[in-house]
Amino acid sequence: MSATNFDIAIIGGGVIGLSIARALTGHQLSVAVIDAGQETPPATDAAAGMLAASFETASGEASLAEALYTLGAQSLAAWPVFAATLEEETGLSLDYRDDGILAVAFDEPQATALKISGDQLRARGSGASFLDGGAARRLEPALSDRVVAALYAPGDAQVDPRKVLIALRTTFRKNAGVLFYERVEHVDCSKDTRQLTLSNGERLGVKLVVLASGAAATQLIAGLPPPPITPVKGEAFAVDRGDNEFRHVIRCPAQPALPYLCPKAEGRVIIGATEIAGRRDASVDDASIRRLRASAADVVPAVHDWPETERWSGLRPATPDGAPILGRDLRGPDGVFLALGHYRNGILLAPACAMALAREILGGDAAGASPLTHLQPFRPERFDCGVAAREHG
Ligand SMILES: Cc1cc2nc3c(=O)[nH]c(=O)nc-3n(C[C@H](O)[C@H](O)[C@H](O)COP(=O)(O)OP(=O)(O)OC[C@H]3O[C@@H](n4cnc5c(N)ncnc54)[C@H](O)[C@@H]3O)c2cc1C
Repeated sequence: MSATNFDIAIIGGGVIGLSIARALTGHQLSVAVIDAGQETPPATDAAAGMLAASFETASGEASLAEALYTLGAQSLAAWPVFAATLEEETGLSLDYRDDGILAVAFDEPQATALKISGDQLRARGSGASFLDGGAARRLEPALSDRVVAALYAPGDAQVDPRKVLIALRTTFRKNAGVLFYERVEHVDCSKDTRQLTLSNGERLGVKLVVLASGAAATQLIAGLPPPPITPVKGEAFAVDRGDNEFRHVIRCPAQPALPYLCPKAEGRVIIGATEIAGRRDASVDDASIRRLRASAADVVPAVHDWPETERWSGLRPATPDGAPILGRDLRGPDGVFLALGHYRNGILLAPACAMALAREILGGDAAGASPLTHLQPFRPERFDCGVAAREHG
């Protein structure tokens, strides 16, 4: 079988792969996205869609945590235009909402922790404010009387990830992108070309490869070095709030996972999520859902009465330091870029990561993006110091 040729092949059609594909359109490049579909379902489909730049941090060094905060804040700032143009291009709603996010406390130690976080956020220029219980309930009347304080991040937002995925696929195809629903089994890299072999035996000849395969990155594609990604399973469910008023994303006190409630369109409320490292199965445990519902009902008592409409799980792609892996991969064959490890924040980070990766691939300002975080803190080689690095291209 002869190979079909493309300039760029993106392995993985989740929010990251498709956002990169979108950032590459309009540059006279032929782009293919190859996605394994239900064989390894995208985490994007399982996400709640919080754009919670104020609340998500990396576990590594302070400088990395700061770089990740900056990347998240830049991506949050890029979301309104990203959502509006995507809606315009496709005629589809993404259910983007900028009502802000509230993290709540039940006691003094939790309130103190929120106050400290709020001070740190304000020092970084955020408009976050610390509220007492009464003020929090005036903002969100669905909150329980047990809530004694809250940290309100008015700039944080949310979107419906499933709607985002459909819109990204639609716009990619409209812009002459080619989407293959197959698994990439092998990448063969010689001096000037890369050849991908798909699960149906088809072969694609390409100049550059972008690996955006989410938690399945560890399921080896022969010919590429394995990236340090581990799956962290998350279970979640949705309830129907009917016509009850409930507007804000609420983050509950950690116990030890951090339950949250995300009100969506048509009365849907997503309640998530567990964090189970290393598991790859798609099962959803009854006990997990019971615990999540109990925690959510502690914060929003009406949850007791809202009927469950759906439950699901997904695999977050985690890295050893909690930050993504972005940029040219210097460990293996030339012409391979990584966009992996977005862990709990792939929806938040998609616009900024896509613009940054496109700049790296296209070179300099060709992507037409505004100046973004330098990719240096997120480069693949931070996990592989022993490997001789080639020059950055
Ligand atoms: C329960 C839960 C809640 C979450 N909530 C949030 C949230 O509120 N906000 C937020 O920002 N993030 C959230 N996340 C995290 C977010 O979902 C991920 O960070 C993001 O979806 C990762 O996107 P991705 O494109 O890298 O990976 P994915 O969406 O997993 O897509 C990767 C794709 O690659 C394909 N693939 C893999 N291997 C191959 C191969 N060999 N060949 C072809 N295709 C392949 C897979 O089939 C898959 O479709 C949540 C995740 C979970 C599980």
